[in-house]
Amino acid sequence: MIDFAGGIGCLNVGHTHPAVVAAITRQAARLTHACFQVATYEPYVAVAEALNAIVPGPGPKKTLLVNTGAEAVENAVKIARVATGRPAVVAFEHAFHGRTLLGMTLTGKVHPYKAGFGPFAPEIYRLPFPYCFRCPRKGASLCCFASPEAITTRLATAVAPESVAAIVIEPVAGEGGFIPVPSEVLRALADWCRVHGALLIADEVQTGFGRTGRMFAMEHSGVVADLTAMAKSLAGGLPLGAVTGRAEIMDAPVPGGLGGTFAGNPIACAAALAVLDVLREEELVERASELGEVLRAHLVAWQSRHPWIGDVRGLGAMQAIELVDPEGEPDGARAATVQREAASRGLLVLTAGTFGNVIRLLMPLTIPRDVLDEGLATLAAALAAADGTATVQSGV
Ligand code: PMP
Repeated sequence: MIDFAGGIGCLNVGHTHPAVVAAITRQAARLTHACFQVATYEPYVAVAEALNAIVPGPGPKKTLLVNTGAEAVENAVKIARVATGRPAVVAFEHAFHGRTLLGMTLTGKVHPYKAGFGPFAPEIYRLPFPYCFRCPRKGASLCCFASPEAITTRLATAVAPESVAAIVIEPVAGEGGFIPVPSEVLRALADWCRVHGALLIADEVQTGFGRTGRMFAMEHSGVVADLTAMAKSLAGGLPLGAVTGRAEIMDAPVPGGLGGTFAGNPIACAAALAVLDVLREEELVERASELGEVLRAHLVAWQSRHPWIGDVRGLGAMQAIELVDPEGEPDGARAATVQREAASRGLLVLTAGTFGNVIRLLMPLTIPRDVLDEGLATLAAALAAADGTATVQSGV
């Protein structure tokens, strides 16, 4: 199989990278567990220092390690609440933040993530996501959502600004369908937070560690989040999540308030240190931009061939196509067909989107060019099969 899924974006440095395997093996022979609240160990401290150095924003910063993306987002919210003394959290339509009670409450897609799993956590308020392809004002010069005033107006019926602890947003909606947030919207959210004393939490769980052509997607807009939630590709497939933020915010919870038995496991930390080295040594952040250009050229060419590819979008190597029916409505059935046709030809691809009608690409950033080309040819064949085209045209 050729892997364009990467275990849902966890394998930016690829499967079984020798440096990661060696780090895991070495650490497994030294210390597998201590529980960081019981006894500190060097790999945890080293990962925290490394993240403090690469997460955007001036220092001093601090980092908490956890096990998953959901835990990272939950802990970011807990930290924001205690640091601001406020209860409310603003999240977005089409968002995905995890499957725990707070994670699914923050998530903006009901089926299959929320239906039947309520009641949900209180004090979560929702804003529309700047989903320009489906915006009723499509074509307007400025995103309909791009000013602090627009945000205030939208929130006016729901929550008092002075009770908002944080706004949580993915700089590119992942599960929601690879929808990049326009830079002016991210900046407007950061401005709104500054004016109203709330904190901006960037969920970089899927966008992080080079995927978008920058180490973190928020760097494309110049916005610095107060707290950043990370996981997925951080430890090359081992379970590790993190929250990094300004030291005075991170220090708000009392000792023992945050943590977890397995949080920041030493083997996962050793893997993360190796991943961060590989990203740097193999210049994978730069490779993500190059990969993104190759992917985009193919997707745009395919769009001209298949009228049911309604949108091509993404940032860096985080690229996707949105499939539509003749009325422009989401066509999830065709996306499922493409996925099935690809799998039957030896290619793993994932769907995404609130309506399941997006095909997203999350191949390892280390993918060799010949494997990439073979995978793209296979995807072209799957697309052709999905519209019943007899002749299979591959490549651009
Ligand atoms: N946030 C985002 C943006 C994600 O994409 C995901 C996972 N798809 C999560 C949070 C939750 O991560 P996990 O599954 O590790 O809990």
